[in-house]
Amino acid sequence: MILFNDFVSEYHALKSEIDGAIAGVLARGWFILGEEVAQFERELADFLGVRFCVGVASGTDALTLSLMALEIGLGDEVIAPSMTAFPTITGIINAGATPVVVDVQPEDGLIDPQAIRAQITEKTKAIIPVHLYGQACDMAAIRQIADEYGLKIVEDCAQACGADYLGEKVGNFGECGAFSFYPTKNLGAYGDAGAITTNDENLYQRLRALRNYGQTTRYYHVAPGLNSRLDELQAAILRVKLKHLGDWNQQRAALAEIYHANLTNVIPLAHRQGEHIYHLYVVRTSEREHLQAYLQAHQIQTLIHYPVPAHQQPAFRGRRGSDLGNSKKMAAEILSLPIHPWLELHQVEEIVDRINTFR
Ligand SMILES: *Cc1c(COP(=O)(O)O)cnc(C)c1O
Repeated sequence: MILFNDFVSEYHALKSEIDGAIAGVLARGWFILGEEVAQFERELADFLGVRFCVGVASGTDALTLSLMALEIGLGDEVIAPSMTAFPTITGIINAGATPVVVDVQPEDGLIDPQAIRAQITEKTKAIIPVHLYGQACDMAAIRQIADEYGLKIVEDCAQACGADYLGEKVGNFGECGAFSFYPTKNLGAYGDAGAITTNDENLYQRLRALRNYGQTTRYYHVAPGLNSRLDELQAAILRVKLKHLGDWNQQRAALAEIYHANLTNVIPLAHRQGEHIYHLYVVRTSEREHLQAYLQAHQIQTLIHYPVPAHQQPAFRGRRGSDLGNSKKMAAEILSLPIHPWLELHQVEEIVDRINTFR
């Protein structure tokens, strides 16, 4: 079976480092907001070239806390793409704000800047561009719109840890960048975890309090906040894995090149070489259901990201989104092929072969 993800191979490759990191935390007996979290925040900030980083409990919370720190909530509208992981929307709703979803570009699935412009109202306070599948949105166009209307930007970087945009890493282009370390992400914890980046020191201080029930010094609370902390065990594991992330992202890019150069029969989404980190390798085909079943029959796992756009989810009922033809069409045609650092060259060649001989 060619697996979509392979956490067991990963653990075996890193076993001594991971076991040592976990044993170190247990031996020190300090589990919440300690040395490991502080070091990980520093190391991730350095990797991303950003001033500040705050470890939190998940990517969803990273979005919610970013909006809370920006004082965006009840009565405020936040614009996001409809083709995204639903937690992008959950993050907005948990902050008390109103999500407004807009369409994506058909060639790459990224939020369409012109569609953002069309949905801005008096109530709009922020834009959440999602760097979908590991590729940055058109941040120059989005920043221009944000500045024109006085809006904040919270980047959803959950799928794009290490992705570049014009020579800088994502997480640097908004007031905040929200990261997820859900196990399947390019940098994945062995459980739930997330982080927020910012280049603004005031926001950084607010975020540190908000993730820890609004506490500034022990037992003094400036706001209710959330309990959303990255724990020491996950931070220790993430520190081990962060050292490999650059290499892993390059290995994914090399596999993507093989797909890109050799696939016929399906249409790969547009990708900008050198910037994309290929969290997912997504192709389009009008024969999606048949192709997926055929690959499954040949022991090749594939997934669909995502079969139902946000605006068509039952959880979104009664909310505002419009003109979402590209998202709907994409949802019906996309298929994600295996791509991860433990996938071997001959396996990628086998996948290409199967797809090219499918009819
Ligand atoms: C994974 C993901 C999230 C949510 O992250 P969690 O850590 O699972 O809460 C949010 N947005 C996008 C685009 C994601 O892929």
